[in-house]
Amino acid sequence: MAKHANKGTTRAGYINRNGQINIGRTEPSRAGTDHGQYIYIIKCTKCGESYGANGSDIFERKCPFCQRGRPGLALLADEINKMAIVAGVDGCKTGWVCVAKDLDTGLITSEVFSNAQLLLQHKLEPSVTAIDIPIGLTENGPRQCDIEARQILGPRASSVFPAPIRPALQSNTRQHADEIRRKIEGKGVSAQAFGIYKKVLELDKILSAQPQLQQQVKEVHPEVCFWAWNNKRAMSYKKKSNDGRAERRNLVAKHFGAEVIEDIRAKYLVKCVSHDDIYDAFAALWTAERIFAGKAGVIPDPSPHDAIGLRMEMWY
Ligand SMILES: [Zn+2]
Repeated sequence: MAKHANKGTTRAGYINRNGQINIGRTEPSRAGTDHGQYIYIIKCTKCGESYGANGSDIFERKCPFCQRGRPGLALLADEINKMAIVAGVDGCKTGWVCVAKDLDTGLITSEVFSNAQLLLQHKLEPSVTAIDIPIGLTENGPRQCDIEARQILGPRASSVFPAPIRPALQSNTRQHADEIRRKIEGKGVSAQAFGIYKKVLELDKILSAQPQLQQQVKEVHPEVCFWAWNNKRAMSYKKKSNDGRAERRNLVAKHFGAEVIEDIRAKYLVKCVSHDDIYDAFAALWTAERIFAGKAGVIPDPSPHDAIGLRMEMWY
């Protein structure tokens, strides 16, 4: 029974011919069921499931979930590696479209959540969720991150809508928001700007109650992400134009692959999740990966806090 594990197969990162990737040995090491073997954490790159396997077993392992492999050895809760999941989120007609990537396996999955509460209860528990919605709001006046984003974006500056000021956030109608802002800032609220209020409020309710969530939930603006992605050059065309879709799609396809875009496109109706919602979610995901890797930039740096202690910042 005791055969020596092939050195290569017990190395973290090894992927066998069935697409099963070795995440590494259990830490602290636990003995397996085969003589002299330790338990390794294996993940399936096809379906994302994780399970334990003896070191001697890794080479020929098939996924117990999607390839009818033998049952895996049980893992302890904290061995199931949830730390290497990142997510990008964009608002869409029916709620929030979330694209998540498992950095161990490269597997990308998508889901639409009808509200922010459900989004943040994501079963994958991403360690970084980059989301296209203002977090942290002023009582009066523009946020510095929005000002800097517009400067960066040049011709695309108009894609950064003014974030709501906190006193106007609870308004149920545009007219009411408009009145409040006029009283405080002497300016009204456009229909487009009011369009994001409901989603801003949704997330703000959660983050103001649990400000520590800001360690995982990071504000991004897709056009700023695309700017950084495109070697710090703003996109040439508006995102709703054919040329604009093509240039954004190119960046996404080059990094994440064209196939996954098609898979996600096929999964949702265009009227629920538009083409640019998908590209925007990928732009957020691209930034989430960079945040996870410690390579992301942020504006402004350092970031100011709002009246309730949330940071007002934008990542890219
Ligand atoms: Zn599988």
